[in-house]
Parts: sequence; C-alpha cells; structure tokens
Amino acid sequence: MKKLLVRGGLVVSDGKQVNCDILIEGEKIIAIGRSLSCPDAQIIDATGKLVFPGMIDSHVHIGHPNKRGSARDSFYTATRSAALGGVSTIIDFAIQWDKEKSLLETWKEKVQLMSRECVTDFALHNCPTVSEPKTIEEMDALIEEGSPSFKFYMTYSSQNRMTNDGVLYEALRKSAGTLMRIGVHAENDALINYLSEQYRQRGETDASYFAEAKPAIVENEAVHRALYFARETGGNLFLFHLTTAEGVRLVKDAKRDGIPVVAETCTHYLVLDEEYLKREDGYAYICSPPLRRKSDQEALWAALRDGSVSIVSSDHCGFDKALKREYKGDFTKIPNGLPGIDHRLRLIYTHGVRKGKISLETMVDVLSTNIAKTFGMYPRKGTISVGSDADLVIYDPNGEEIIERGIDSDSIDWTPYKGFLLEGSVDMTISRGEVLVRDGEFSGEPGRGCLILRDILQKRQK
Ligand code: MN
Ligand code: MN
Repeated sequence: MKKLLVRGGLVVSDGKQVNCDILIEGEKIIAIGRSLSCPDAQIIDATGKLVFPGMIDSHVHIGHPNKRGSARDSFYTATRSAALGGVSTIIDFAIQWDKEKSLLETWKEKVQLMSRECVTDFALHNCPTVSEPKTIEEMDALIEEGSPSFKFYMTYSSQNRMTNDGVLYEALRKSAGTLMRIGVHAENDALINYLSEQYRQRGETDASYFAEAKPAIVENEAVHRALYFARETGGNLFLFHLTTAEGVRLVKDAKRDGIPVVAETCTHYLVLDEEYLKREDGYAYICSPPLRRKSDQEALWAALRDGSVSIVSSDHCGFDKALKREYKGDFTKIPNGLPGIDHRLRLIYTHGVRKGKISLETMVDVLSTNIAKTFGMYPRKGTISVGSDADLVIYDPNGEEIIERGIDSDSIDWTPYKGFLLEGSVDMTISRGEVLVRDGEFSGEPGRGCLILRDILQKRQK
C-alpha cells in the first residue's frame, strides 16, 4: 500500500500543537512521532507549515433549489472548491421536498447523487417536512443506516419546509440519552410573516430593511423555545446558525444547567454585519437569519473562546448575484443564502486566529474536531491520531492575498468576501491518503468521495 510521510510540520490537533511527523499507509494514519523514517514512503516536507486534521463543513446546501432559480454549483464543483479550501468532508441536507416520499427514500436519492459527484467525503442531515407521527417512526430507519442527524425548520411555512412544534418536541424526546442530533433552524415563523407583511404594505422591502424586518427577537424566541423543549425532554438539541448575543446568553444558561445543546455559527456572522445590507448590492447579502450587528459578532467570537458556540460552518448556498438581483427591491422574494464553502478556513484563520480572537487550537476544534464529535464521525475524522482517516491540511502561514472571487467562480458569479484579506494558504489537502490539492492545484476524480456512516451507539462524548 502507498505510504506518505509528512515531515517537519507543526501539528495542531485535539487542543495541542506538537512538532511531529505523520506516517500514512493507504487511507489511514499509522504512526505519529518525532523523526519518523520509512524508506518506502513518499516524503512530504511540511517544514515551516501548519498541519491540521481535514476540515469538515457541516452545513452546506450545494445546488440548492429555489422556485425562482437554483444554485448553480454541482457536488463536483462545490466539493472541488471545498478541497481547495482545506475541506475533506461535507455535510449537506436531504430535504423532504416531496412529502409523499419517506425520509429514507429522500436520503437514499441524495446519497446516490452525491456518490457520483463528490470529491470529498460526505454525509447528510435529514430534513423532515411532515408534522405527523410517521416522521418520528421514519427516523429509526435513518439511524440504522448511519444518518442520525436532523434539521427541523421552525420557519419557512411559505416554502413548505416548516414542521410544527409537536413533531420537534417528539423528536427531541426520542433523542434523549442517545447521540442523535435534533437540529433546528430557529426563527419564529408567525412573527416573520406578520412583520414582513407590515414592511410590504409600507413599501419598505428593499434589502436595507431586511435586518430590522427580521429582528433578533425572531431568532431569540425560537432558540428559547427549542432550548425549553430540550430542557423538558433531555433531548440532544443542535442549534444551526446562532447569530445573536442574546442567543449566546440563552445557550450559556442552558449548558450551565446541563442541557446537552450544541450551537453552531457561520463564517458570515463572524466577519460580515448588517451594514452590508445597506450597500448598493445589499440584495446579494440576504440570508436567514440575517446579518447582525458588530456587537453580536463580538459576542459570537467570545462564545467560540468560551465554548458556548463550538462549531463554525459556512451555510454555503451558491445563488448567483445575477439571480438575486432579479428580485432586488423585494427581500421577501430574494433567494436566501451566501456562498462560502471555499474560503472558510482562510477567513477564520486570518480574522480569528491572526487577529487574536481565538487560538489556533480553538480554530481546529470549531472547524473540524467538534464537528466530528457532534455528528458521530470522531475519531475517524476531526483528529490527527493513529487509526484515523488520513485527512490532513497543510497550511502555509506565510503570504497574503485579497479575495477577488470565489474559487468556483465558473458556477457562482460572486463571493460575499470580495476585498477581504487572507493570510496564509492551503498548500495541500489530503483525503484518506489521497492528495487532492498540491501547491494549490486540484486533482481528484468525481465520485471518489465516500459516504461517512455514523454510529450513535458509541458512548456520549464530552
Ligand atoms: Mn437554516
Ligand atoms: Mn442553511
């Protein structure tokens, strides 16, 4: 079997920085230590470089459909740009758009499509859209297949995706004492619909009104409700895209009381703010929850430092600026979502680590290790350990550039991060022992990515 020896790098994994070498055989890491030698291994010189476990992006919507036009990226183009940004595993969503199909059928169809195209490894969160007891029953089949994470939409009644509080409560009850993850998109649907109607009637539907039309209380109330359900049921709650200082406070209280909640935020809530909505191209920055205030940003960085928010994902959604522009002037119609599967690592490194907001170890935790732990992939993923998959990023901390475009600019005509500074670069991305990116150049066959099965019978992890 092919062997690779990564030599001389500063390895950052599981809360530590250690200068050591990593020996890979086939798809696995087989040895870690100082001055390893192996005559038949190909040597990769990582002197002066940082070595991280492969990054995991646990919240992406590749090729997301919208009734006004779909995102234009494919699983191939999006996972290629993910790999170029240091990502070796993604988690997308199996949304039950067709309510006649079971959750299992919905999941299987998406797995088939992803198996043909993905160059990174992958998994899916299941999104039920039916608020009936059969949803709860159908979850069992997915747990058996190794797909034990879910997202329930507390809003989007207008897009046929919302489930009611009854089924969410029941799902949380079911998850108590297991490693299932019951995720929520927490926004109060009635409040959204009521408030946007008021803005619509006043003709105030320009993007510049979006943040005030969907104020923090819309999210905070739903977060509060979901946490209360978790408190009552002992359920394993996962909060997708937490954005507010008040939300952080609620999560902290819940954690202090022993509620098993895990909270995520996304790149854009850390580096962009609501002022972007007031720009000439503010329509492009419509996403939900909306971009918030600078004070919320600071609360989120602090939450990453103290662990109350423990995951940063991209919530990548590749709607074109051109498509969004068609609905400019009416935030109720603009497709929601920002692309960002590509630059997450470099942005968080530059604007988090280099600015002293979080440590290098915390960065690796929130972009990889904590994700693997939360979603049942650890220690196969998210760590540089003997026996783990040989998923590595070799990061050169030197050099800088200004973002001009997204990596997959053939599919997606804009990036919300244009003009942002990036320090350092991804030299190499290795996935299960295969070098996908070398000196910033990609090579990898569509369909090489593997579905990662997740076993929830393992013990609850801290
Ligand atoms: Mn969401
Ligand atoms: Mn999302």
